[in-house]
Amino acid sequence: MCGDCKNFETIAVHGSCEWSENTGSISVPIYQTATFKHAGLSQSTGYDYSRLQNPTREELEKTIARLEGGKEGLAFSTGMAAIDAVARLFLPGDHVIISDDLYGGTYRLFEDVYKNYGIEVTYVDTTNLEEILKAIKHNTKAFYIETPSNPMMKISDIKKISELARNNGVITIVDNTFLTPYFQKPLDLGADIVIHSGTKFLGGHNDTLSGLLVASREDLIEKLRFAQVSIGATLSPFDSWLIQRGIKTLPVRLEKQQQNAIEIANWLKECSEVEEVFYPGFKENKGHEICLRQASGFGSMLSFTVKKKETVEKILGNVQVISFAESLGGVESLITYPYLQTHAAIPEEIRNKIGVTDKLLRLSVGIENINDLIEDLNKSFNK
Ligand SMILES: *Cc1c(COP(=O)(O)O)cnc(C)c1O
Repeated sequence: MCGDCKNFETIAVHGSCEWSENTGSISVPIYQTATFKHAGLSQSTGYDYSRLQNPTREELEKTIARLEGGKEGLAFSTGMAAIDAVARLFLPGDHVIISDDLYGGTYRLFEDVYKNYGIEVTYVDTTNLEEILKAIKHNTKAFYIETPSNPMMKISDIKKISELARNNGVITIVDNTFLTPYFQKPLDLGADIVIHSGTKFLGGHNDTLSGLLVASREDLIEKLRFAQVSIGATLSPFDSWLIQRGIKTLPVRLEKQQQNAIEIANWLKECSEVEEVFYPGFKENKGHEICLRQASGFGSMLSFTVKKKETVEKILGNVQVISFAESLGGVESLITYPYLQTHAAIPEEIRNKIGVTDKLLRLSVGIENINDLIEDLNKSFNK
């Protein structure tokens, strides 16, 4: 029975193996309905109203839970909506320790929304356990990490951080958007909550937005589910289906994307206009050893700095196969300028400190032919 399968690729294709209907449909039906009828008083099919439960969304939630090795999954309209539900675990007076190099929107949410509600935040370099330890206070409730980080590709040690968390009675939250459970399973390493912007690799086609959470602890699931259905930023049936479909090809896409990324990273390293390339697959990358230990791949995200600022404009204005656009993880290669795009919400002083300077570019490598990608970069460098 397919529900007994343990292998990632099979689960990605077949999902939960728990839904059924009587036509023999291979693809999970899109239950495009707002509500469900009841046969009588106190009778329910288990589905009452689509904000609360929807069978298409439920299939996606079960699938991501299986892939991450968690108990339950929750699907939201965007990654930020998922992170917002996590932030609602905290109460005024609580303190959270967050990676200083992370998605700009997450920084904005904690800094410009939740600080106003009395939630304290300290940003530290979570690649350094000492720094985390030093930042712990009596009211610390969670460590929130992104690894590899966005955009500097720094690696935090999920296992050690989760141990430190457990010893101090706090929870560990990992944004696993960059590697996905195909390459990295934070719950297996001791984390309590996994976050995804499903907009990225899970959806994989740059055609819709979504957010996902996975957890195993009952008390956390209960609180997160309450936030999800109370606030209402749940994923629509059609978008749930799109993400479900995207996940089917996640393993083959990631393998190809990673292979392309390695070739591009090596090419960039030899490029005379490039100063430094940040890719966890490089042996000289500080977190390389940890990444090898905790993940089965390095992914297809990389960043690089150029020697002259003019080169940034030249590249962004001239790429043709690669698109100058925000976002990442899809089959189409995208190049981003974090300084003015994804990380614009972070104060300049902090951006400079962590390395998000005006000479940094971030590349999300897709599945195009590698020669076309390299030729595109080569041409735009030399225009
Ligand atoms: C994009 C992204 C988010 C936010 O997700 P949305 O779907 O855009 O709301 C959060 N974390 C990371 C690492 C991201 O790349």
